[in-house]
Amino acid sequence: MQPEIEHLASRFREELAGVADERALEELRIRYLGRKGALAGLFQDLGKAAAAERPAMGKAIHALEQVVAEGLAARKTALSACAEERLPAGFDPSLPGRRPWRGRRHILSAVLEEIIDIFRGMGFSVAEGPEVETDYYNFQALNFPANHPSRDSQDTFYVDDEVLLRTHTSPVQVRYMETHPAPVRIVAPGRVYRNEAVDASHAAEFFQLEGLYVDAGVTIGDLKTTLRQFAREFFGPRAELRFRPHFFPFTEPSAEADVLCFNCGGEGCRICGGTGWIELLGAGMVHPNVFRAVGYDPERVTGFAFGIGIERMAMQRYGIEDIRLFLENDVRFLSQF
Ligand SMILES: [Zn+2]
Repeated sequence: MQPEIEHLASRFREELAGVADERALEELRIRYLGRKGALAGLFQDLGKAAAAERPAMGKAIHALEQVVAEGLAARKTALSACAEERLPAGFDPSLPGRRPWRGRRHILSAVLEEIIDIFRGMGFSVAEGPEVETDYYNFQALNFPANHPSRDSQDTFYVDDEVLLRTHTSPVQVRYMETHPAPVRIVAPGRVYRNEAVDASHAAEFFQLEGLYVDAGVTIGDLKTTLRQFAREFFGPRAELRFRPHFFPFTEPSAEADVLCFNCGGEGCRICGGTGWIELLGAGMVHPNVFRAVGYDPERVTGFAFGIGIERMAMQRYGIEDIRLFLENDVRFLSQF
């Protein structure tokens, strides 16, 4: 007897779900609760059942009766709500709604903000400058003389002979030092431009974060300590840095810094191209000519500067292989982060 009652209960639920208007609901009510309905039949069977079975069976039938009555009442409320709101009859306002589409920060914004936070923690403040720059701030004041071959590596988009889209965030160093006396401790995040043939590892626009620390007695030891601390906070406490000599016009000496591959720990893997090290950033001690250009006395102050590519940091941390993905605005890519 019990399985029959359970079967009836599940059939009722199915039928209830299919009810689309009040007339169908009334028909369903009559089929179950009417004088000749399914429940009435069960009560008749109860009368014929053995005395020992009756209490349990009676309890089960009453439970079913309650399920049916409550189901009908809930559906009736839902249907009349549809009628009042002029909603389609099949609409059930008691069902959970569709999740609203929630936005999130772009992966590059998230990485940039994380990097800024790390440097804030070391006492750096944020400075910004224009993306449309003059030749003077982008090149000359940073010790790139006109017609010097070092400009070849930073071809850009020119508005005219004097005005261009900045190729790095380094002009912010010059603008900031022109208007603030030493000591200076800033990071300058922002978008930069290069006249590049776009491919998986080159973009014509990307983000950098410039760092600058100037004071009496700043040494290359301070530079290495600062960048090592940054690498450990960004890549994890086991991160190691190595510095390779390099050339930048606006620093002397200059270096490129590599981080020990966070994936293989130096043994060599796909992410580090088998070398065990990943190229991280460029850095160096501020060139005396840059100090002279902004009116600082290179005999009294020294300083270091560094430039971090934000796309590169994100690509290395998340294993992203194509820089173009950042700008394609494909939510399937963006929603992963
Ligand atoms: Zn590796």
